[in-house]
Amino acid sequence: MSDDIRGGLPSASAFEILAECYGQQQLVKRLPPEALALHKEEPDPLRDSGSRIHKSRETGNTLELDPQEFALYQSGLNYEQRIVEKWKSVFSLTDVKEGPRELRLWIHDSALNPLCSGQLDVHYISGKRALICDWKTAFCSNLVGAKGNWQLRLQAVLLKIEHPELEEIRVAFAKPMYEDSELDYCDYNETDLKYSLDSILYVLWWSTQPDAPRRAGKHCLHCPAKARCIEALSFFMLPSAMAIGVTRGEKPEQAAEAVSDDDLYRVWEVRNTIKEIGDACVARLKSKTDEELAAMGLRKGKGRDILDWDIEAAFKFLRDEKLWPEAELFKTMEFGIGKLGALATKQIGVDEKYASKEVKSLLEKFYTVKEGEKIIRRLR
Ligand code: SF4
Repeated sequence: MSDDIRGGLPSASAFEILAECYGQQQLVKRLPPEALALHKEEPDPLRDSGSRIHKSRETGNTLELDPQEFALYQSGLNYEQRIVEKWKSVFSLTDVKEGPRELRLWIHDSALNPLCSGQLDVHYISGKRALICDWKTAFCSNLVGAKGNWQLRLQAVLLKIEHPELEEIRVAFAKPMYEDSELDYCDYNETDLKYSLDSILYVLWWSTQPDAPRRAGKHCLHCPAKARCIEALSFFMLPSAMAIGVTRGEKPEQAAEAVSDDDLYRVWEVRNTIKEIGDACVARLKSKTDEELAAMGLRKGKGRDILDWDIEAAFKFLRDEKLWPEAELFKTMEFGIGKLGALATKQIGVDEKYASKEVKSLLEKFYTVKEGEKIIRRLR
């Protein structure tokens, strides 16, 4: 039985993609699981940190937050408070009640089959008005604002279905990274909610059609099918200047010289997707038979040698028989935080999600921290 609480159906958090690309669901269904597995997201400390902050907002328990996360959590509470105060003052609301946090709500068809769902981080109700706050703990650089945002639109519709007496619903983002920024919200009246429901049902209907069209764009970055999608492949093609350089046999550094600043930004933004598509293409080539490859002018070559060391025996041999200094030998080895984290999970039962953090804190006195090469980040 699936442990997907969304029942494999569209959800509010993924609705932005669906509304942009009706055919996404059909492609995902057609692809073998291993094709989607390529999308399995890399360990992402920022995402894990966001989950912990959301959990704290849900439970009020902040014990699992580190100081930086706690500061962000406080900043989120302040941001949410500003949203709530503004809502109360504009509509002179006095009797405001908070609804259940992390509330999952559903849209059903006329036969009561579930069609899609959404989870509300936080919401408040006052008479015939409601306010929904969705927390976004990351930088939100690709976030569509509240006015055009499908996730929030669907949340508003879901709350209206749950509380038919509501006549006006405000949806807002709480963005703790930008505590003092202008509030980002949108109001839906009953007519807006009716049209919004119609538009959501329209998207859901399209998403079930075998010939639903696919439309690539920035949203593909978050699509599990991106590595097998021809539309995404076309969209994420390298800038033509770089492609021409490569076909001329220039080295990558030379080809990159010809890329405009606009394209440099785009390549930086989509580099993981480009790599994933490339890896998926190579994986497909490797799955072909020798005959199929030969017909394409390719063949399988010998793989590179992978040395599977008996580290302990090799170490002792060099130290005891060859008399290489132990201190120098140690310098040739390194701890991998990922492997140590897996060991910590096995040895002391720490949750996988927190294992790296646990190992770092456990071994704190045995390492110093040096800054690696600078990384590129967006301006806020
Ligand atoms: S990768 Fe983009 S175009 Fe392709 S199915 Fe996903 S969202 Fe649609």
